[in-house]
Amino acid sequence: MTATDPRVTVAAKRDGRTLSPGEVRGLVEGFVRREVADPLAAAFLMACCIRGLDDAETLALTRAMVDSGSTLDLSGVPAPTVDKHSTGGVADGVTLVFAPLGAALGLAVAKLSGRGLGHTGGTLDKLEAIPGLRTDLGPEQLRAQVERIGCGVAAQSADLVPADKRLYALRDATATVESVPLIAASVMSKKLAVRSDLIELDVKAGSGAFMKTAESATELAAACLRLARGWERACIAHVTDMSQPLGNAIGNALDVAEAVRLLRGEETGRLRDLTVRLAADAISRLLGLGPDDAVARAEHALADGSALERFRSMVEAQGGDARVVDDPESILPRAPVIVPIEAEADGVLEATDAEAIGRAAASLGAGRMRADDRIDPAVGIVCTPKIGDRIERGSSVGAVHARTSEAAREAAAAVLAAFTVTEGPVSPPPLVIADLG
Ligand code: URA
Repeated sequence: MTATDPRVTVAAKRDGRTLSPGEVRGLVEGFVRREVADPLAAAFLMACCIRGLDDAETLALTRAMVDSGSTLDLSGVPAPTVDKHSTGGVADGVTLVFAPLGAALGLAVAKLSGRGLGHTGGTLDKLEAIPGLRTDLGPEQLRAQVERIGCGVAAQSADLVPADKRLYALRDATATVESVPLIAASVMSKKLAVRSDLIELDVKAGSGAFMKTAESATELAAACLRLARGWERACIAHVTDMSQPLGNAIGNALDVAEAVRLLRGEETGRLRDLTVRLAADAISRLLGLGPDDAVARAEHALADGSALERFRSMVEAQGGDARVVDDPESILPRAPVIVPIEAEADGVLEATDAEAIGRAAASLGAGRMRADDRIDPAVGIVCTPKIGDRIERGSSVGAVHARTSEAAREAAAAVLAAFTVTEGPVSPPPLVIADLG
């Protein structure tokens, strides 16, 4: 064995040694060139999970991942650019509203998004529920659209951080996803590969998130911020509540309909509150506004319809049927079976297993269990009660949109099983748990 043999690097991490940037890069480059085979890379990932990576190692890993492909430089776009990213949750339709709202506020939002996997939804799947809408925009097309209308949401091209795509698939297959440095490197490699003026991270914590506790989510947010600092890139992070679905809609057409209603001023609640907060923080940072002024402007852009009009322009620019803005229910695909979900007991909602609800929606066809599964845009779940709400036996707590009555029954039972109902009063959890950066 020579010093550059990747087995030596893996053995060193297995034994708890700190790796040099060159060793980390050698391993990633070898993996991308397929000289390091999957079993050795999997052993490396497991060694990282168990032994950890320090900041310098995590930075080296992230750099090697970014360097594995092309980058997207938005520095020519005249407006300040923001890249808002959520670590993934249930009923998290923030991007659908944030992108046009940011544009209405004078920012440029060029968003490279992913697809849903497991219990979490994906922005691309949601947008593609709009008939005709395309997300396969090339870098120049995305840049031109953002220059013209201020926002665009596109699929991450295969040549942007290809190392992450392969490493993530291997992590998924080898029980090595749950490692803060590996998640931070994965998330931030995709953000740092896009040259934006501000990265805004929404790190979810709770039953519907990767990070089940506020502590682990805060640890991840801090690790991401240290990576951004290492790259000298502006970044802010929020740890936000995912102990329950954020909005009410868990599906793709259903999510779009909820976002349109919100943009039309017909929805209130936690999804709206969080989107306003994230947009306000972005303009506060990028346009130098005070926090109250920033919130007032974000509220105004929702109230005066300017964010809605940016959404219409974005849908049109991406080939979608813009009538979705005026009449979402008749333009979006609709499931053949819609059954109400009725509460089984009186009481106050104490806890919600958001992951179980996300999985129930995925089982209906709204999400994917495997990366190559096809999704059904019409199906999903509407789940209305939030923690602290009083519910009454027999009253409606939502609905299932399904292909068959049997699938609808199973999903409704899964939603009810995900609720913990208690007698006493319960305080709603804070929406924003921590702000960092
Ligand atoms: N999201 C990512 O992009 N990467 C991870 O590792 C986990 C969540």
